[in-house]
Amino acid sequence: MTIKENIDTILEKVNRACEKSNRSSNEIKLIAVTKTVDINRILEALKCNIKSIGENKVQEMTEKYRHIGNMAEWHMIGHLQTNKVKHIIDKVSMIQSVDSLKLMNEINKRCKDIDKVIDILIEINIGRESTKYGIDPSDILNFIKEAPKYENIRVKGLMTVAPALANKEEVRPYFKEMKKIFDELKDLSIKNVEMKYLSMGMTGDFEIAVEEGSNMIRIGTGIFGPRDYSKK
Ligand SMILES: *Cc1c(COP(=O)(O)O)cnc(C)c1O
Repeated sequence: MTIKENIDTILEKVNRACEKSNRSSNEIKLIAVTKTVDINRILEALKCNIKSIGENKVQEMTEKYRHIGNMAEWHMIGHLQTNKVKHIIDKVSMIQSVDSLKLMNEINKRCKDIDKVIDILIEINIGRESTKYGIDPSDILNFIKEAPKYENIRVKGLMTVAPALANKEEVRPYFKEMKKIFDELKDLSIKNVEMKYLSMGMTGDFEIAVEEGSNMIRIGTGIFGPRDYSKK
């Protein structure tokens, strides 16, 4: 299967999930996750109308940025250490993996330095898994109330990585809970907070995520095939 065929298959499945849930597929934003994928294959995806790419490691992103630059919109989707924010802050359109106030503080400071206002998503650990990053669902309200303090940050929504479960259907309740939190926060009208994007759904679970209200999906293997970590 070519990258083009893979992307078409994903879009077709998105369409079907949207029909099922009475939504328009125009509202779904596709992020191609390019971790471990080489430059040529990323360029091939960009030719197939991919506009946004997601990376989870700072060094890998900055290396690829040298080749690809503003041909794509860059999303940081992996855990970000505060001491590395400075390396990517001028390159990314969105940081989806914000999981602490310490990180908020650093992002805000670095944005101020370069006179930038950045869009972020807050990562929620919806499965309350000790192995995952993200804010505990019970802490999100207290967290988001701090957002107005950070003048160079706009909170644009929530992101999650759902638990990896053998039976696909078992992830549905987690996506439902995410949508509920998203809608509750939407109603609060907090300064600098606009609940616009609900980023959930990966290759294994994006159809269920879309059915449950996701409007941003992050697809890696579904577009590029299995990852080859040995090359990294
Ligand atoms: C790798 C990754 C993805 C994509 O995963 P696939 O299963 O390959 O689609 C999505 N989100 C995050 C945060 C990732 O690290």
